[in-house]
Amino acid sequence: MAGQLIDGKAVAAELRQRIGDAVATLKKEHNITPGLAVVLVGEDAASQVYVRNKGIATKEAGMNSFEYCLPADTSQADLLAKVEELNADPDVHGVLVQFPVPDQISQQAVIDTISPEKDVDGLHPQNAGRLVSGLPALTPCTPTGSVILAKRALGDLTGKHAVVIGRSNLVGKPVAQLLLQENCTVTMAHSRTADLAAMCRSADILVAAVGVPQMVQGDWVKPGACVIDVGINRVPAAEEGKTRLVGDVDFDAASQHAAHITPVPGGVGVMTVACLLRNTLTAACRQAGVDEIEV
Ligand code: NDP
Repeated sequence: MAGQLIDGKAVAAELRQRIGDAVATLKKEHNITPGLAVVLVGEDAASQVYVRNKGIATKEAGMNSFEYCLPADTSQADLLAKVEELNADPDVHGVLVQFPVPDQISQQAVIDTISPEKDVDGLHPQNAGRLVSGLPALTPCTPTGSVILAKRALGDLTGKHAVVIGRSNLVGKPVAQLLLQENCTVTMAHSRTADLAAMCRSADILVAAVGVPQMVQGDWVKPGACVIDVGINRVPAAEEGKTRLVGDVDFDAASQHAAHITPVPGGVGVMTVACLLRNTLTAACRQAGVDEIEV
């Protein structure tokens, strides 16, 4: 490999350590323990793992973790009532409903019901709008983690040309906004972009958030670029019946061109939970009206 690996695990571990220290300070100086409530509807195996990991990380940071597992046939009205209950609970500073939710429930209705102050996923239209307006907001976790990794690799991002492939509300759009805040010149690419390969070749920072395994080819990467691979795709492994995780970038080929590149797993994915904890800390400080602790 020619490029340097961006070690998401190490960056996330450092961030979680700083969050743990900040939580201890908040307890000592203000008697506040940040609390994160996670709601899971149904028994999706991957979602169960995500929820469990979030709970473990929350407790490791010294925060209170509240987990609610609701049956798969829960009605939208019942889920929204649970969210309202958590919105009103003073011990809960962050509310997260694990997506996807079953078909009878509208994901947007859930997002709209979470109090913007407790919206630690950063998906409420009020937080999305505040991000675009350059106002303090709770920002989505995976995009925030992606930009932290780019800054860790490159330092100041001012003047860099960033190409973001993907325009979802969850990843692509907020990544682009966060990079704009870092003074990048940002191009957003998507499934209708003409000559995507040429567009990618002009990127100093290439963010892939597509959901197509290993779509970004080695020769799409400008020599010396920084590649942030957000993709998490499960594909068949060489061994019969096994699977493995790959990103949206052909890692082996791209790393021959890139100066910096995130691996999958061990890159952006591990930053997501760390940034969730960071948002919970921020939300707790804002709700209590105490100075925010920068981590
Ligand atoms: P979505 O499916 O919501 O969005 C995918 C985007 O990619 C769309 O904007 C789509 O364009 C674009 N796209 C799809 N195919 C192509 C193509 N052939 N060429 C160019 N653009 C294309 O996905 P998400 O944003 O939710 O997730 C993206 C990836 O990030 C997935 O692999 C997901 O697993 C991963 N992810 C990882 C997380 C983590 O913690 N690391 C968290 C969240 C997501 P259009 O809008 O035109 O359809």
